[in-house]
Amino acid sequence: MNAEEFRKAAHAAIEEIIDYYDTIQNRRVVSNVEPGYLRKLLPSSPPEEGEQWADIQKDIEAKIMPGLTHWQSPNFMAFFPANATYPSMLGELYSAAFTAPSFNWICSPAVTELETVVLDWLAQTLHLPNCFLSEGEGGGVIQGSASEATATVVVAARERYLTTACEGLEGKGREDRRDQTMSRLVVLGSDQSHSSLAKAALIAGVRYKSIPCSSENDLALTGANVQAALEQCKCEDLEPFFLLTTLGTTSTCAVDRFDEITTVIRETRSPGTIWIHVDAAYAGAALVCDEYAHIAKDFVAVDSFDMNMHKWLLTNFDASCLFVRNRKDLTSALSVTPSYLRNPFSDTGLVTDYRDWQIPLGRRFRALKIWFVLRTYGVNGLKAHIRRHITLGEKFANWIRGREDLFRIIAPPAFALTVLTVANPKLIDWGLLNEHTETKVSEGLATSDIMPHTSTTELDHTNSLTKSVYERINASGKVFLTSSVVNGVYAIRVVSANEKADEEHLRKAFEILVRTTEDIVGQAYK
Ligand code: PLP
Repeated sequence: MNAEEFRKAAHAAIEEIIDYYDTIQNRRVVSNVEPGYLRKLLPSSPPEEGEQWADIQKDIEAKIMPGLTHWQSPNFMAFFPANATYPSMLGELYSAAFTAPSFNWICSPAVTELETVVLDWLAQTLHLPNCFLSEGEGGGVIQGSASEATATVVVAARERYLTTACEGLEGKGREDRRDQTMSRLVVLGSDQSHSSLAKAALIAGVRYKSIPCSSENDLALTGANVQAALEQCKCEDLEPFFLLTTLGTTSTCAVDRFDEITTVIRETRSPGTIWIHVDAAYAGAALVCDEYAHIAKDFVAVDSFDMNMHKWLLTNFDASCLFVRNRKDLTSALSVTPSYLRNPFSDTGLVTDYRDWQIPLGRRFRALKIWFVLRTYGVNGLKAHIRRHITLGEKFANWIRGREDLFRIIAPPAFALTVLTVANPKLIDWGLLNEHTETKVSEGLATSDIMPHTSTTELDHTNSLTKSVYERINASGKVFLTSSVVNGVYAIRVVSANEKADEEHLRKAFEILVRTTEDIVGQAYK
């Protein structure tokens, strides 16, 4: 493809992308193709001769679109969103054009320096404590995903712990101490932590222990839970070196009690023994708003914090922003420098080589899209974006509350996420849903804990009603929701944080929920 052909092809592609966005809400939101559909549509080997762009482009609509689930559709209310925006796409376009895998500063100083600047901007915008800024000992780095960020800090924490444990030893003595300590190392998280923590422990070759969260505390990890887990580890001769806390858990958007947890760690462990990480993959975006800034104050006592701009902050996948209090913790653990990676600039120690802050060597120019987004929206634009979704979430939750005959909210609407179940009319008929229970439900507690008279069979029945509603709605392709099991209760999650979602889309989702539930419950009890 020469320059003139590229100009024509790129214009045609941009036109198609704009049309796609303009009409996306008319498409079936979740793909309904059968597994293996694409192989049947494509030749079994690549073409011998090159093809024209016009012919290639036609296959986007004909062959790829049927197999796409439209994450950018306003009817996509599943998982957490993956917001994409035009300024961010422009960042991707330039990044692809420059293609400069800038693992060392000298590979493209602009790539490294822009990353440092925009992550400092972002830290300020998120109201993070100054210890995470690059002007001190901390700093930020863009990772591919929150899972990658967790794996990276688990490895850094392991190395920091082992270095201290082996201090003063050399040779075989050092190796033996390292091996003995490794076999006792354990990563701690809560039973609501994202599964990427268990994977990080697997990658780092250490044990993983999850701490139970009680629904009395809205499924948040508390200081008391952590204290109990530390005591248990002591009894089992395990050495905890890493604790993952969460701002906005995946199932219910619970917020762990950072203040209590950091106090417990500070009071029971010597400084630096347990690395505390905050996984704020989705809800961290809300910290741009002044009304959430108080949460970030507690991060003054944690080692690292990660949030995905690629979830709720208008930036295309991938842009997971990891901040560390002490960048030396990363570089000491991850710096491996063969001769071919050495250069005079790195040797001075005056430049940042981001290869030492991450697992891979090569890296993309991802700072560009973050820069474009921050400049296009401005901090006020980001705040307005988050607040609009939170307001939509509250409206949606109020509509659900207005149909007590059909639904129960089992976790308080938080960060534009509402978690609900179908109300089992049998339980209502039997008077099991008494006043006490209703109050507790509205406070967001799980039904399994607050329906003392509810037998397993009744709970199973409620679960199966909710599951039927969920499955029928998703099969319709009109909206896409996700489910979760919270303390044994099958629940439907509705996220009102899609960039293109407005009140009309949430209202439509609510009406579909009502119609489907009336139908399924009606059939079950006729
Ligand atoms: N942490 C939390 C709380 C999440 O909800 C998710 C995904 O939704 C992740 C981590 C994993 O994110 P990623 O896909 O960026 O690895």
